[in-house]
Amino acid sequence: MSAKAEPLIFEKGSPGRVGIDVENSSDPLPIDESLLREDLPGFPEVNEPDVLRHYLRLSSLNFSAATNFYPLGSCTMKYNPVANEAAAGLKGFSQIHPYAPEETVQGALKLIVELERWLAEISGLEAVTLQPAAGAQGELAGMKIIRAWHEDNGASKSKVLIPASAHGTNPASAALCGYESVAVPIGPDGLVSAASIRELLDDEVAALMITNPSTLGLFETEILEIADAVHEAGALLYMDGANMNALMGVAKPGHMGADVLQFNLHKTFSTPHGGGGPGAGPVAVRADLEPYLPLPRVTEREGVFGWEFERPKSIGRIRSFHGNFGILVRAYSYMLACGGDGLRETTATAVLASNYLRKRLEGAYDLPYEAPSMHEVVFSDKRQNAHGVKTLDIAKRLLDFGFHAPTIYFPLVVSGALMIEPTETETLETLDAFADAMLAIAEEASRTPDHVRHAPHETVVSRLDETRAARHPVLTWGAGEEDD
Ligand SMILES: *Cc1c(COP(=O)(O)O)cnc(C)c1O
Repeated sequence: MSAKAEPLIFEKGSPGRVGIDVENSSDPLPIDESLLREDLPGFPEVNEPDVLRHYLRLSSLNFSAATNFYPLGSCTMKYNPVANEAAAGLKGFSQIHPYAPEETVQGALKLIVELERWLAEISGLEAVTLQPAAGAQGELAGMKIIRAWHEDNGASKSKVLIPASAHGTNPASAALCGYESVAVPIGPDGLVSAASIRELLDDEVAALMITNPSTLGLFETEILEIADAVHEAGALLYMDGANMNALMGVAKPGHMGADVLQFNLHKTFSTPHGGGGPGAGPVAVRADLEPYLPLPRVTEREGVFGWEFERPKSIGRIRSFHGNFGILVRAYSYMLACGGDGLRETTATAVLASNYLRKRLEGAYDLPYEAPSMHEVVFSDKRQNAHGVKTLDIAKRLLDFGFHAPTIYFPLVVSGALMIEPTETETLETLDAFADAMLAIAEEASRTPDHVRHAPHETVVSRLDETRAARHPVLTWGAGEEDD
């Protein structure tokens, strides 16, 4: 991957150069004189081919799951089939409006109801809302449902238990819901024990938010005992289902005692990711929590689908209408293409791929927990650290080999964590090429550590000042002005 830097569009062109000549065209645009500018300082003056080439070159500098292997743990950056895009682009889906009369959009409403039923089946829970636009928003919706349920039962609770291995969005969602989060320590085996949960349970606990398998890629083996303890204390079990690609078609969270669960369609069900959406974080609940789901709901009466806007116990809207409908169509298309057996195979292959990488790398990288891996495996930089090479250096060096880095420094319970999630969409050749690169870097770390410490060597830019970029972002091009 030896890409060339691309200058800014402002640094290209020459005065008077244009793509289309509006003024002299045979059919000038009817723009009022008063709206026309005399002058636009610093505006790039470029011809059409230069504009096209500029943006195409910029797009080729992007790193994506469509171009390279992207083993970002917890994020499930699997390949998204193009067929899903074609389905979402069908006019009957892409050109309808949420306020269109129900009788004209029966197909879309049916898709919503069917997708809810499929997700309910996979989760082992009874009812689903598709409204939340991201995993974190699903968590918030789920916690609001839990809060409403407790209040309805006359109980005011103040705390939520969250294991130290949880995703950062869990305590944030609990806090947004007005709860104090209490950290549950994890044991030397990386797991949450029922004993540690029992110790922390009291009248003030509204719920335990647990991720299973955890963000360490480990299955919580005491989950049934944990669920019993939580329920006996009058609390509910919230399961973070972002990692459903380790369970789908094999085990159901509802059977493990979960009362509420959010899915991440943009992880498990192969739809695009995006900052703050476009994603989807549907929430599944057990039967008696159904009245609290967000509104509006789509209902079916004798094969006719319609909206329902009034339900006294609902937590209200969490987002407009049914969330990111285009994402729901993509997930539906993906599930339809896979079928039940295909979804189960997806899980098996994702788990197999992560265990394959674990076996290939465990001789060279420190494995902090011995328990069997599920869909992802977490290593640390302990061995490379002895030569002054850290996780960040390994991540940067991987770019020279054409791979995106794994998730780094997360989960926080592992110092210098490297969290690898290969997903089920990669070939054996790709997994081997990645393992070979990781082994080569481990070798370099002991022989030529400086080479790893100064990586990447072959990218357009080397190490960026990420702190400065975050604290003093320069988001516009100042015409001739100083940046700072
Ligand atoms: C990704 C993830 C989330 C948050 O999902 P977003 O869609 O990014 O908001 C929550 N929990 C876990 C375990 C995750 O992996």
